[in-house]
Amino acid sequence: MYIKVLVELSAFNIDKTFTYHVIDSLKDKIQIGIRVLVPFNNQKLEGFVLEITDEKEDYDIKDIIDVVDSEPILTKELLELGKFVSEDTLSTLISAYQAMLPKALKAKNGRNVNIKYQRMVEIDNLSGEITSKQQEIIDKINENGKATYTELKKINSSVDTLLKRGILKINEVETYRAINYSKINYPRHELNTDQKKVYDEIVNNLNNNITYLLYGVTGSGKTEVYMDIMEKVISLNKTCLLLVPEITLTNQILKRMEARFNRIALLHSGLSDGERYDEYRRIKRGEVDLVIGARSSIFAPLENIGVIIIDECHTESFKQDVMPKYDAIEVAKYRSRVNNCPLILGSATPTLDMYARASRGVYKLLRLPTRAGKAKEPKITICDMTKEEHIKNSNISKTLYDEINNKLNKKEQIILLQNRRGYSSILMCSNCGYTMKCPNCDISLTYHKSKELMRCHYCGYATKKIDICPDCHNDTLKDLGTGTEKIEEEIKSLFPLARAIRMDLDTTTKKGSHDKIITAFSKGEYDILLGTQMISKGLDFPNVTLVGILNADTSLFIPSYKSNENTYDLISQVAGRSGRSEKEGMVIVQTYNPDHFAIQLASENNYEEFYKEEMQNRLTGKYPPYFYLAQVTVKSKDYELLSKEINKIKTILENKLPDKEVIGPSLGVPFKINNFCRFNILIKYKKELDLKVILKDLIDHYKTNYKIKIEVTFNPNNI
Ligand code: ADP
Ligand code: ZN
Repeated sequence: MYIKVLVELSAFNIDKTFTYHVIDSLKDKIQIGIRVLVPFNNQKLEGFVLEITDEKEDYDIKDIIDVVDSEPILTKELLELGKFVSEDTLSTLISAYQAMLPKALKAKNGRNVNIKYQRMVEIDNLSGEITSKQQEIIDKINENGKATYTELKKINSSVDTLLKRGILKINEVETYRAINYSKINYPRHELNTDQKKVYDEIVNNLNNNITYLLYGVTGSGKTEVYMDIMEKVISLNKTCLLLVPEITLTNQILKRMEARFNRIALLHSGLSDGERYDEYRRIKRGEVDLVIGARSSIFAPLENIGVIIIDECHTESFKQDVMPKYDAIEVAKYRSRVNNCPLILGSATPTLDMYARASRGVYKLLRLPTRAGKAKEPKITICDMTKEEHIKNSNISKTLYDEINNKLNKKEQIILLQNRRGYSSILMCSNCGYTMKCPNCDISLTYHKSKELMRCHYCGYATKKIDICPDCHNDTLKDLGTGTEKIEEEIKSLFPLARAIRMDLDTTTKKGSHDKIITAFSKGEYDILLGTQMISKGLDFPNVTLVGILNADTSLFIPSYKSNENTYDLISQVAGRSGRSEKEGMVIVQTYNPDHFAIQLASENNYEEFYKEEMQNRLTGKYPPYFYLAQVTVKSKDYELLSKEINKIKTILENKLPDKEVIGPSLGVPFKINNFCRFNILIKYKKELDLKVILKDLIDHYKTNYKIKIEVTFNPNNI
């Protein structure tokens, strides 16, 4: 017996199967989709069995060393899906399979995530004399027919005697690491007329692979509709897959789901590797009806999927930015085709691209135009920072200051958004203009005051803050720009009695800290929640009646064709956090560009007009959705070599793609990350034709050149 094995190395030059021989004693264990241990260039590597064959190749074939799994870890659907992902994104096949699996199941030698076992005690043979202490033990076991050794030992130690006498026996039973969430009561709502329409449309098409764009304003009751649809699907003995952005994947949404559903699996980065492994096994064994997770859970090994829902589908994090650079929405479309079930893309601010597809009928558009229940749309006020008084030289305008005080007096809660973490963005010498840069990346370090550190937000490099300018030796270093840490300091000094808490990447590194902050805030333990975009989406706090955006211009001036759209989104999303129950909400948007159309239209909640105007910009600039984009990134540590190769590549692409626009090369932003210099070439096109074949050829051509790395990103986020 021979098998074709895909080994764990993710380099383009080894991304193919290698044939191995299986010795007789292992033959019975071989199945497609299991992992095996094989010799490879003097190493022992793990790999996936993709084919079983009787044909011998005409080169010297080695024996496999061992079999890793007893059952396939990649289902038939996932094996095919991996091929689709690898072809669609021009990634290695092994990187696609690895991305689909939890760490415990990735092909990787020396992993240390184990199955947890528990010692369960049962009655084996009840005979002879039993003391009253021993009877207590037996009674406990009789409650459920079995009990854990640990709990029996807590009652008294006679469990050991009973085991010795053969009255009791121990079984090692596989268990799952318990993820404990406290249950809440979340009232079920009768769907309103609009919600009912959406529900009916989808439930009447559960056996069609239609992609729906559910465009519902924040608080319109999308989640409520999802739950009713999922309930229906589960009643038909099918399963549901619900994707939400990582940052909204909090206890909050889970508790709401748990109030309604029982057999739920949760997959997100806050879980330990062991917990993830357990959740994965539960899913694979068909022990769950509903999987809730972030991007990678689109690969959950669910069978018989009845509906796939991607909430906040406009979120950029549904696209992975490292290989395999897949878009969870494209993967979802594939799985909805295979499972013949609907895909629901839900958002209050669909991307222009999605809305354009809906207008063309590629997606079916469903609407929830008003807030559900008693809640009204919040009132949005634009605050012109060029004219407004800043309180005590802070970043807080008089308007916002007064309103915060007003809400504090009424015991209502406030959310403040500052889209940059750290204290200030950079330290600059006001004498000579020196700024401190990352040694690995071509980018300024961000000042983090609480730890007196300078950090690189790209590679994580950190160093102690300096007080004296190394260039001119003066103590004239000033902090420029404003991060969440600095705002926190201002809030504390302007509102000394208010209880404020900060939520950003720096305060949520510890496991569970994210949830802790959210729970404390929703219990009213804090008056003000201050944070980065991490707090802009999905959260539902009924007592929040004021949202302040401290600087709406931050996103406007990020050089990207999507900056208008991102600004519009940010304002609408954050605004959606205000006034979610009976109390009326308000939003204050501080900006130095009060007349900018994205800010104006967002404050009027006029998506249609924004869409019209921005589509015109996209047409003029030849950007999506009128043109597709493919970005070819060429990286190397050797700058000389890179600058030579990049021009060659540009010429090749121009010659091979006469019908497409080939733009660049341009410098990567930042140019250097982790010591790799980067150039980009952008391809704009209307029809894909043989683009992927040509790009694949290019990648193949550089396969054996270890000094040059080529990556392709389709419709990248950061352009
Ligand atoms: P979305 O997901 O669109 O932001 P949610 O489903 O979270 O909206 O609903 C917003 C708020 O309105 C929630 O507090 C929810 O409980 C409530 N709600 C949803 N549907 C109804 C309804 N039909 N009647 C009354 N309240 C509702
Ligand atoms: Zn760096």
